[in-house]
Amino acid sequence: MPLEEVYIGIGSNIGDSAVIVSNAIERLSELPKSELVRHSSQYRSEAVSDIPQDDYINAVALLKTSFQPMELLLELQAIEEAFYRKRDPALKWAPRTLDLDIILFGSRSCDDSHLTVPHPEMQNRLFVLQPMFEIGGDFYIAGLGSLQYLINNAPSIALERI
Ligand code: AMP
Repeated sequence: MPLEEVYIGIGSNIGDSAVIVSNAIERLSELPKSELVRHSSQYRSEAVSDIPQDDYINAVALLKTSFQPMELLLELQAIEEAFYRKRDPALKWAPRTLDLDIILFGSRSCDDSHLTVPHPEMQNRLFVLQPMFEIGGDFYIAGLGSLQYLINNAPSIALERI
């Protein structure tokens, strides 16, 4: 099975988020049928939410995998659950122990009720774009433009590499 490059967005704003993000990257490196290529530094970002909440710690990991997208999503959700993430569908932007999102899956694009790739919010999230640039440099994303273009046009937020 060919390996495809997948960018995974990682975020946490409950508990010791720096440790949680590090541990999540460790768990990603242990996934079967996959190899962790690189991961970014950690970034502190202000929460984009109507609910007052703590800053987030974010990072991005680049994985090579032979999982299909839906299989990988289930693996990521199992890792989230292991960190006691509380799912409350009523609170879309509620604080969370650990959030793992598939940002890009090779050059695939899909949109169903379980999975949308490229991640539909990626162009609005500097805390995803900046760490992607750190590990992958500039590259072109079909339908969206270059990563540098997306960074230049994303809504501005307080973002600090730590
Ligand atoms: P969130 O609360 O942002 O973690 O959203 C979780 C839900 O988003 C899950 O039910 C997933 O099925 C769905 N989802 C759709 N697209 C993606 C994606 N690219 N990465 C992760 N979750 C996704």
